[in-house]
Amino acid sequence: MKQIYEATNMIEAQILKDYLANSHIDVIIRGEFLQGALGELPVNTYPTLWVLDDKEETNAIAAINAFQASNENSHWICPNCQELVDAPFTQCWNCQQDKPGQLD
Ligand SMILES: [Zn+2]
Repeated sequence: MKQIYEATNMIEAQILKDYLANSHIDVIIRGEFLQGALGELPVNTYPTLWVLDDKEETNAIAAINAFQASNENSHWICPNCQELVDAPFTQCWNCQQDKPGQLD
């Protein structure tokens, strides 16, 4: 089992898990139960995706990259309130959070 991706939140992790399942790549999400823990573990609380079959690692990463590339023109997930926001908007319509990952 190999870690292939670190998501920013559970919704993103779940969307990618479902997407990969549609591509016949089985992954699990780890770390989801650590969110909200009382800080006793020095852990990364971001959910991570792990591919069950190591041989699928390359395929899974490629699929995620393709998914994210296609998603740049469809929608994004607000990191503040987890709303799904349509691509033309660079701010969340719900809470006015700026779209993350604006590189320019
Ligand atoms: Zn928002």
